[in-house]
Amino acid sequence: MSAALIDGKAFAAGLRDRVGTLAARFEAQVGRKAGLAVVLVGEDPASQVYVRSKGKQTVEAGMASFEYKLPADTSEADLLARVEALNADPVIDGILVQLPLPDHIDEQKVIATIAPDKDVDGFHVVNAGRLAVGQPGFVPCTPLGCLMLLKDRLGTLAGREAVVIGRSNIVGKPMAQLLLAESCTVTVAHSRTADLPAVVRRADIVVAAVGRPEMVKADWLKPGATVIDVGINRVAAAEPGKTRLVGDVDFTGASTVAGAITPVPGGVGPMTIAVLLRNTLVAAWRNAGQPLAP
Ligand code: NDP
Repeated sequence: MSAALIDGKAFAAGLRDRVGTLAARFEAQVGRKAGLAVVLVGEDPASQVYVRSKGKQTVEAGMASFEYKLPADTSEADLLARVEALNADPVIDGILVQLPLPDHIDEQKVIATIAPDKDVDGFHVVNAGRLAVGQPGFVPCTPLGCLMLLKDRLGTLAGREAVVIGRSNIVGKPMAQLLLAESCTVTVAHSRTADLPAVVRRADIVVAAVGRPEMVKADWLKPGATVIDVGINRVAAAEPGKTRLVGDVDFTGASTVAGAITPVPGGVGPMTIAVLLRNTLVAAWRNAGQPLAP
């Protein structure tokens, strides 16, 4: 069998287009652009790339991007004051503080300071709680992107066996909550799971969010399973001195067993920023006191 490729790049482009249309409607109706503030502390090169990319895509979608680049030695108090100021600023609809933060700053304290209704990353405990009890809130971008790809591929997810590998607050746990809300039978696996291959073999849907290159093998999969690979791992390439990106799933092997699979790169990765833009637009409509136009 040769698995169908789930093209996250194409899906994300379509989502960005839809967001762009609604962002234009927001501006026409409300009289300002929807606004996303991104705060970066320090000079971590990967974070700088992400922040640049977020800013560029925000502007391309017809929204306003506000970037705050603070030095690595910014105090926790100063960062919290910046977040408070953004909370109070009416032209800012969404606030994102790029993680990781320098060691001297308490990440949880910073996330807790973001107003839940501007928390477009969905990391605030209020939004985690809303997701858990089924109230509208903001859902972390990566798992929400995975859910969109799954629904696009499979239609209804009800009754399916889903195994999520990984239990982080930003991917694994919210992914499990989303699948449960879709009436899947959900298992969350982690580093202490006994006989992980046997657990994964039950799954109609596998979401791998582990951070271990090509860990999930072809013989762990039920034939025809839908595989969503969240992992982004940089490994040595065949050519000396070069590197390449691989997921948490052995893509070549898994493609012979799975029904459908996301590639790395080009699968889940492009969805994350597209969903961030979508969440920002939802925040903007809500903050303007208007429902999101369909
Ligand atoms: P974390 O390191 O926070 O969590 C990893 C999870 O995997 C933990 O729950 C851990 O278990 C589990 N785990 C580790 N080793 C094993 C193992 N041998 N068997 C089973 N479970 C294991 O990672 P994240 O959730 O933040 O990210 C996961 C991956 O997704 C990374 O590769 C990351 O780069 C990628 N990612 C991609 C994004 C995108 O935009 N596409 C966005 C975010 C992340 P335990 O809890 O027991 O330690």
